[in-house]
Amino acid sequence: MGLLERFDPWRSGLCTCPPKLTFNPYTGCDHACVYCYASSYIPKFFSCRPKKDLVSRLKKEAAKLNGEIISISNSSDPYPTIEGEKSLTRQCLEILSRSNCKIQIITKSNLVVRDIDLLKKVPSMVALTITTDRDELAKVLEPNAPPSSERLKAVERLIKAGIPTSVRIDPIIPYVNENPESLVEKLAVLGVKHITCSTYKVKMDNWQRLNLALPEIAEKLNPLYFEKGEKIGRYIYLPKNLRLKLTENLAKQAKKHGLKFATCREGLKGLNTATCDGSWLIGETHSPLQKLK
Ligand code: SF4
Repeated sequence: MGLLERFDPWRSGLCTCPPKLTFNPYTGCDHACVYCYASSYIPKFFSCRPKKDLVSRLKKEAAKLNGEIISISNSSDPYPTIEGEKSLTRQCLEILSRSNCKIQIITKSNLVVRDIDLLKKVPSMVALTITTDRDELAKVLEPNAPPSSERLKAVERLIKAGIPTSVRIDPIIPYVNENPESLVEKLAVLGVKHITCSTYKVKMDNWQRLNLALPEIAEKLNPLYFEKGEKIGRYIYLPKNLRLKLTENLAKQAKKHGLKFATCREGLKGLNTATCDGSWLIGETHSPLQKLK
């Protein structure tokens, strides 16, 4: 199996991403998010390990690139804790920055600012996930990821350095972070041009973690998912009318601040005002709607 693979999120008919490749330097991720989906299909997910022969394999595969967008990463985070010491993602970015490609980084870590020099060498963008602007809540939801306040500082540094940056408010969980108004306001002030959101989807392992981390919330969510929710693929979604309400609320806030907005795998693409994954920001050569499906 290659390192660079066609991005195909479980063949979900709800995915509206433009064609791109996906690349995970690591298997697993120690950020240990309560709501993580990848932990349901990758064994020992929260103990993060580098891919075998990562750098030598990437060199061979990168030589064949032909201008594709490479999304780093979709089934893990490219900046887990050990990246600070191992710098494997950095070594990969060194290779890719000399190759014929465009780079999209998706992360919850402020360590991405370390690699601004490399990201400047190639058409690129960064999508930082920030689910809340409250550090104490982020610590519950994403125990080992850097605090939201550090991620916001990273957004500022990236934008000041000229790296286009979007923010994923992802996932929205009712009763937890369903009204991120102050966060959207902060993002607008920092110069963010695009936000992407999705709602929390239940998989049995993330549901167990949510019950442990937020038992009172889980009690309130139970009927929404298990009585009124809908099963789509291997996930249990909130009822569609509630998903529409939550995402419309965010779409309105984005509009108020002049930000582009998109939903991710919700089946609500009518709300999108730009390509869902924010990749239109790469090089800012495309109009936001150019690749909108
Ligand atoms: S950062 Fe992403 S891959 Fe890592 S634990 Fe959190 S949701 Fe899972």
